[in-house]
Amino acid sequence: MTSNQELFDTASTLMPGGVNSPVRAFGSVGGTPAFMVSAEGPYLTDAEGTEYVDLVGSWGPALLGHKHPAVIAAVHAAVDAGLGFGTSHPSEARLAELVRSRVPGAEMIRMVSTGTEATMTAIRLARGITERNIVVKFAGCYHGHSDGLLAAAGSGVATLGLPGSAGVTQAQASETIVVEYNDRAALEEVFAEHGDSIAAVITEATPANMGVVAPEEGFNALIREITERHGALMIFDEVMTGFRITEAGYWGASGRVEGWEPDLFTFGKVIGGGLPTAALAGRREIMEHLAPTGPVYHAGTLSGNPVAMAAGVATLLNATSQVYTHVDEKAQLVAEALTAALDDAGVDHSVQKVGSLFSVAFGTAATGVHNYAQAQAQEAFRYGPFFHAMLDAGVYLPPSVFEAWFLSSAHDDAAIGRILEALPGAAKAAAQA
Ligand code: PMP
Repeated sequence: MTSNQELFDTASTLMPGGVNSPVRAFGSVGGTPAFMVSAEGPYLTDAEGTEYVDLVGSWGPALLGHKHPAVIAAVHAAVDAGLGFGTSHPSEARLAELVRSRVPGAEMIRMVSTGTEATMTAIRLARGITERNIVVKFAGCYHGHSDGLLAAAGSGVATLGLPGSAGVTQAQASETIVVEYNDRAALEEVFAEHGDSIAAVITEATPANMGVVAPEEGFNALIREITERHGALMIFDEVMTGFRITEAGYWGASGRVEGWEPDLFTFGKVIGGGLPTAALAGRREIMEHLAPTGPVYHAGTLSGNPVAMAAGVATLLNATSQVYTHVDEKAQLVAEALTAALDDAGVDHSVQKVGSLFSVAFGTAATGVHNYAQAQAQEAFRYGPFFHAMLDAGVYLPPSVFEAWFLSSAHDDAAIGRILEALPGAAKAAAQA
């Protein structure tokens, strides 16, 4: 049997940091990453045969758990028909129809391969339509790794403590204005000064890349109102939240937006059911600006790939209200147990939760976390020992305090029981950090 350490040593000579995506590295928590070789239901198994309860869920797609029988069967059937045709085929419209039927305002859809591509294309579309250049984003929100969106980005950029990315030109950086999240006055000021040049505001429906941060009551509605007032588009990034959060009171697509709609949505993760698919969607008159009906170019060799479409269709067909009820209830249970364990160990913290997505922020009990400055000011050093205690007890958490925890419909009582058993020891480790 090859050990995790041997696999990591080899990987590190072949790939920067031994990974193909920085969030997978154990950079901020230390230690040797576990190399996973199989996944089933709520569990991951590493190269050494150790089984973990998975709270990463492939970073979001695994709403139904790993290897859901209906998804695997659909993928096998699609593979048997051919890996791709480079032509139109029927299952593209099936997935598009499922998205449209659940998201008011998503009249037309363009499939792409990654969330990065979805947001990048949405921004090009907004610029093409408005003939303006500036994009407003919020500090701590992550929208993928396209040049203009890396300023003050969350996720791995936050974990590594970077202000942005080297290699982004001054010209690109100067066309992105970053505003603190939940700061209405700052947003108003930016529009007062640059309103005529702003093509779009892009925001996560609920930020979950600086840990989870709830939009304050009316904040998303203000973005809608102010963009409309100034002739800019509102891009609602639901790559993480779309088809995952449905709770009443949630302001996103799958929870229904009350009384208003963004101009463009972006989706990813769950709609691909674990394979590389993402999408942008919006009203017909906006979407028809995309080539070939309009002048804004986007193309993709693998866009709408039939195997990925099959995984997405099977996932959305099986994402029933019972699935969401289960995931919401289990998330509530784990979040409550997390708080109880940390309280018992005397660790100052807040559990940040919106619907079934949640994360922990240490040293933030007094204020909670409402923006990136507060997320960054937390006692992040407590997370490494907490993470490793959970890992040693057989629970795989995201290896960064800035990432959300993901549950699935496959997390049954046995899996949840293992998480609950592990929490008190991990809370003690956090206390001693
Ligand atoms: N937007 C959001 C809100 C995300 O969370 C992510 C990825 N975590 C992306 C965009 C980028 O998606 P991808 O990694 O598929 O490029």
